[in-house]
Amino acid sequence: MSRSFNLSSLIRPHILTLKPYSSARDEYSGKEGVFLDANENPIGSVIEGRYNRYPDPYQTEVKKKIASHTKLSVQQIFLGNGSDEPIDLLIRALCTPGRDSILIMPPTYGMYEVSADINAVEIIKVPLTTHFQIDLPHVFEAIKEDTKIIWICSPNNPTGNLVSEDSIHQLLQQFSGLVVVDEAYIDFADSESWTTRLDTYPNLVVLQTFSKSWGLAALRSGMAFASPELIGLLNKIKPPYNISAPTQELLLQALDQISVKQKFVKEILSEKETLHTMLADLSFVEMIHPSDANFLLVKFENSRAVMDYLIRSKIIVRDRSNVKLCENCLRITVGTENENKILIETLKKIQYNPELLN
Ligand SMILES: *Cc1c(COP(=O)(O)O)cnc(C)c1O
Repeated sequence: MSRSFNLSSLIRPHILTLKPYSSARDEYSGKEGVFLDANENPIGSVIEGRYNRYPDPYQTEVKKKIASHTKLSVQQIFLGNGSDEPIDLLIRALCTPGRDSILIMPPTYGMYEVSADINAVEIIKVPLTTHFQIDLPHVFEAIKEDTKIIWICSPNNPTGNLVSEDSIHQLLQQFSGLVVVDEAYIDFADSESWTTRLDTYPNLVVLQTFSKSWGLAALRSGMAFASPELIGLLNKIKPPYNISAPTQELLLQALDQISVKQKFVKEILSEKETLHTMLADLSFVEMIHPSDANFLLVKFENSRAVMDYLIRSKIIVRDRSNVKLCENCLRITVGTENENKILIETLKKIQYNPELLN
């Protein structure tokens, strides 16, 4: 059990008492009937397909499928326009601008900070250790009375590693605010999801996404898993129809293709091994950080020059060299066999002609 956890005392008072927008489809949820309640076009859509009716605001069919896969209840699931939507909603539900704070552990995913900044919410930063693990003593020291959310990304972006389970347990047990574990890369890791501990920890929120292993980044769909009480609050403040009908239909199809996702993951992990071996052979690669995700954080002798040369060769990787603890590092997503071959062949040219870096 977490120390004196009380959700109502964490939520901004006006959100607790907020009367949400009541959509037409909130008041009558049956499928049959003469629908003259939402000012839709009754005839059809101007393009092929029928998009003239508003979608299910709570995406119940999609959530039922997710629930059966995750062994959670529909009431523990929130669907957002990418993970970015629940990130923003959590900050807005809990943090009063100019007063409350969140705690992040850089180097980590940039959206926690951006969302807090947009909402004028203070950000406490406690850097990860040099092994990219949680610095527990400093985290506990840095937590303030008005710290509402601690953000953990595991496997972490951009470092690629899983975060120690023991330190996450400690935070969940000793911090009385919310602990969010972002599992965007969990399908690539050899580790159980934290969703299995939702019943133990009322202050746990788990984020997952359809953007990575599922191959659906263009759909903009992310999931948040938490207690029914917290999910109810997110539902109250979200835009009413935040997931479009075509997206809901495609997600239903996708959720029937878990074996395809597993095949993708296997293939990407095998390519990651190959890429790792090839990169390790290059003389100007200083180190490759251990990765539990679908990318490698690679330290070069001179990352800026390598980055420029790769861009001139029309190969785009992510420059993380100006991020603290990631000096001279590029984050390289595992591509297809062919893409990885092009990358390695391009990098090998440097080995033979170092002047290419000038
Ligand atoms: C890619 C990524 C996401 C996914 O964001 P979406 O908005 O769902 O596309 C979330 N968290 C982390 C850490 C990521 O790297």
